[in-house]
Amino acid sequence: MKIHEYQSRELLEKFGVPVPGGIVVDSADDAEAAFKTLQKDGATLAVVKAQVHAGGRGKGGGVKLVRTAEEAKDAAWTILSKPLVTPQTTAEGVPVNKLLVASGVDIAKEYYVGMVVDRARGCPVLMASAEGGMDIEEVAAKTPEKIIKEPVDPDTGLQPYQARKVAFELGFSGKQVGQAVKVMMSLARLFLGTDASLVEINPLIVTPGSADHPDGQVLAIDAKIDFDDNAMFRHKDLQALEDPAEVDASEAQAAKFGLSYIKLDGTIGCLVNGAGLAMSTMDIIKLHGGDPANFLDVGGSANEEAVTEAFRIILADSNVNGILVNIFGGIAKCDIIANAIVAAAKEVGFEVPLVVRLEGTNVEPAREILEAAKADIPTMIVGSDLTDAAQKITAAVAG
Ligand code: GDP
Ligand code: MG
Repeated sequence: MKIHEYQSRELLEKFGVPVPGGIVVDSADDAEAAFKTLQKDGATLAVVKAQVHAGGRGKGGGVKLVRTAEEAKDAAWTILSKPLVTPQTTAEGVPVNKLLVASGVDIAKEYYVGMVVDRARGCPVLMASAEGGMDIEEVAAKTPEKIIKEPVDPDTGLQPYQARKVAFELGFSGKQVGQAVKVMMSLARLFLGTDASLVEINPLIVTPGSADHPDGQVLAIDAKIDFDDNAMFRHKDLQALEDPAEVDASEAQAAKFGLSYIKLDGTIGCLVNGAGLAMSTMDIIKLHGGDPANFLDVGGSANEEAVTEAFRIILADSNVNGILVNIFGGIAKCDIIANAIVAAAKEVGFEVPLVVRLEGTNVEPAREILEAAKADIPTMIVGSDLTDAAQKITAAVAG
């Protein structure tokens, strides 16, 4: 589960990371007023930032520095007026409904610090780089040696000596070291305490030295947090942070019916029971030259209601020009599934080719049910096994 930057900043602050203040708005007029409010608190610079679940906003014009209320209003208007296209969105971009107007800071240097689960090591890992900022992806790809990695024991958490070691490796000096250590310790506590799968501060910055802070201040000015969906049952407060406007409508609808659905950009819709079978169905479609339009696992106890909804969701995708149903009847018997498919197909109405492959408990009566329904569902083809079904659907879609 993803949350917005402004929510991530609040959580970081709660765990002890210093973050410049900000105000969330949804109109240009409110952005102007927000600037004036920040100005009263002493800000001379602000940054107007699109709040969307996609990174790379700076590169797409979704982050603008402003020095007057008028500039804040103009920047807000520009960002809100069109979808935001960044290196991490599609070419159409994503709509921007909310903006964060944050107090701006002067930057002496940008760093990266983050924490993720390292699947190879089987533990969380703190990652840091002195080459933080908008090109961190390129740094990671081209000069991976510039990314420091420090494995973290999930039971004991990040140890102060580890954070100090990383702070020195990053090149922090003087009073910056203690500040950077505090940031990393807080970040690790946040990661472990909220069952996060990613916490990222990019950039973590140091301000130029001033009379009050001769060594500068270490501050987080951007934040991204993803949580492990499977742990959200024990974090109801965090679950409430999810913004429905950012969740794909068909994925949200699928979740309501207990279906695991992920939209992809191919043309063959897949309706499958079981995640492993869904993966192999996608593989075999690819093997035969097709492209899956989605991953869809209707679950072990697929009933008529869920199957009907699954067909509706698949057919709502205008890229779909064929559907492959691949069901292994175990707990849910094939004949029951076959009846559900027939009823759902009649209700939803098919114009595109539908290939059905059933195997498992009660497969014989199930084949009879499908055979008997052929007149009612003229685009239906029965596949004898998975290869046959994949060949039939890719041929039907290609033709
Ligand atoms: P992202 O592009 O989506 O990661 O958005 P960020 O919040 O990281 O902003 C992108 C870049 O804008 C940062 O790397 C900074 O260089 C710059 N930026 C963001 N906030 C400020 C600020 O308060 N002051 C200054 N000087 N630059 C900022
Ligand atoms: Mg950033």
